[in-house]
Amino acid sequence: MNPSEAARQTIRPEILADLSVSQLAARVRDVGAEPYRVTQILDAAWRSTATDWSGVTTLGRALQERLASELRFSAFEAVERQEAEDGATTKLLLTLSDGAKVEAVLMRSPADPRRGSGPRATVCVSSQAGCAVGCPFCATGELGFTRNLSSGEIQDQVRIARQILRSEQRELTNVVYMGMGEPLQNIDAVFASIDGLTDPLRGGIGQRRITVSTSGVVPGIERLARQRPQITLAVSLHAARNPLRDLLVPLNRKWPVEAVIRAAHAHARATGRRTTYEVTMIDGINDRAEDSAALAELLAGSGAHVNLIPMNAVAHTPWHESRPERIEQIANELRSAGLTVTVRRNRGREAGAACGQLAAERAGEPTPVAVARRRELLVAASAAALQGRRTAQPIAPAGPLRGDA
Ligand code: SF4
Repeated sequence: MNPSEAARQTIRPEILADLSVSQLAARVRDVGAEPYRVTQILDAAWRSTATDWSGVTTLGRALQERLASELRFSAFEAVERQEAEDGATTKLLLTLSDGAKVEAVLMRSPADPRRGSGPRATVCVSSQAGCAVGCPFCATGELGFTRNLSSGEIQDQVRIARQILRSEQRELTNVVYMGMGEPLQNIDAVFASIDGLTDPLRGGIGQRRITVSTSGVVPGIERLARQRPQITLAVSLHAARNPLRDLLVPLNRKWPVEAVIRAAHAHARATGRRTTYEVTMIDGINDRAEDSAALAELLAGSGAHVNLIPMNAVAHTPWHESRPERIEQIANELRSAGLTVTVRRNRGREAGAACGQLAAERAGEPTPVAVARRRELLVAASAAALQGRRTAQPIAPAGPLRGDA
């Protein structure tokens, strides 16, 4: 954490979800309340639809006011909802106490008798406001990095999702750390949030129902295997060859694809959990014959699961999603290499559910000059990458495009 971020963190008001159960017990004791109040507070936060201290009716007015004066009930100043796909997807745009905006997406799926699974409801949470990795196909990457989220700010995304589901008589079944940000670059807060979400007195979610997705932070993958071995690992791979992955996932310059795959295989061996690899399918960029062959070769024999995701269009790129028939061909090639493959339907396109898309829209339209320049750079860099040339510098911008003209 840099000094200015540390300063911002210290002035942000404390929120309930940032406290462990023992820290909350100490706070309750400090205000002179009885120990059983801890359970009442946690029940209200995690098992009711209370949105502020006045909704914790079991406490009584005086204690509500006392707690409200020193602890925020929710991390969010505002919660905006957008629905898509006939209510199957809900996109949440959440404003934090310092004005930073993050997104969470709630996805509902019906029971699948073929797989013997019941109805599912998965929330995809953000771990950072913005992201420093700067993948050029991603709307969050264009926003640049604002700050890390605290453990409580991550957990509260799940708490809000559960409240929405409760009003529909549904249960939350899965949590994925796949929203804005690179979770393993905020690993302490992410681990603390996992501890909160899996605590029976708080979130109460099974560890095996949680997935952490990374763009390839090798030391973080190693730590995940050692310290939270029940958590599923997903790797945002996007390309199997370094020149192209340098462009699509700029972190690849630090941890090249071979190192990422080695760490992911070691994770799978140590934890016994199957790795998922995510590949955003971009027409003419990473769906060419040599790319699918390299991907099959890289992952053959790993028993991994590959998720092919048609790219969601973002304004500043010249790229768009691969053709459905090409995605299906690649899926079949990968299956022939012994991999399990799914093709993700693009959830929530109507709700701007590409990672960071809604927040990017709210950050303001980039200028036409900045968009044109960005596209030019990407076209030149992708032409070099497709010829196998590695570029020295990432071309990801440090901030929103509108400041780039
Ligand atoms: S795809 Fe993920 S890692 Fe890459 S810029 Fe977007 S949020 Fe960051």
